Amino acid sequence: MKLTAPVSSRGPCRMFIISGPSGVGKTTVAKAVLRRCPWLMTTVSYTTRTERVGKKEDKTMIHVDEETFRGKVNRGEFLEWAVVHGNLYGTDGPTVRERLQRHHLLLNIDPQGALQIKQRLPDRTVLIFLKAESADELVARISRRQHMDPAELKRRLEGARRELKLARHYDYVILNANGKAAQTIAKVAALIARIASGTRPMPARLAAPSRP
Ligand code: 5GP
Repeated sequence: MKLTAPVSSRGPCRMFIISGPSGVGKTTVAKAVLRRCPWLMTTVSYTTRTERVGKKEDKTMIHVDEETFRGKVNRGEFLEWAVVHGNLYGTDGPTVRERLQRHHLLLNIDPQGALQIKQRLPDRTVLIFLKAESADELVARISRRQHMDPAELKRRLEGARRELKLARHYDYVILNANGKAAQTIAKVAALIARIASGTRPMPARLAAPSRP
């Protein structure tokens, strides 16, 4: 079921950011929400992470070397950037500026980047954190990923612990329980549609003022 397009005159376009620890299923949820809400657009990210062999990469992710990435940082071309699991990731500023004029946006980025955006554009940004039912469940989900080597798995587990601590700064924390992705997708899509259409007010609470 597609959710109706919001009435754009009801307010400025918003940035909805989905974050959550590795393995929680945020990419699945974000992609499904984009399909369900065709009026939502995504953004473009740059990363120094190398492309994964044998896995179809998202077209919204541009792989560059560190020098190129740092050059973009120095020229102020990122809306936010962060080190995630040992690699650099950044949201392309010009793409956001252009698309946000006419479209609500959905971003799937890590909490460090999400909190930077909330600080820069507090009235435009809605932070949604996806969590699993327990740390053990998360470990099980991450371990089921075949394409990750043990060192990367370990890094991601450590990162997940750090990310969970940042959930308290989010506007909404939503449980993505094992085997219940459809319910999570419906819940997140409905929440975004209500805020985008103005039938639900923007969350009042702002993220913490300091960088994580
Ligand atoms: P992956 O390399 O598996 O695609 O993504 C790893 C992590 O980086 C995920 O938590 C994802 O949400 C995050 N990520 C992807 N793009 C960006 C970005 O542009 N900025 C930030 N800060 N994190 C990102």
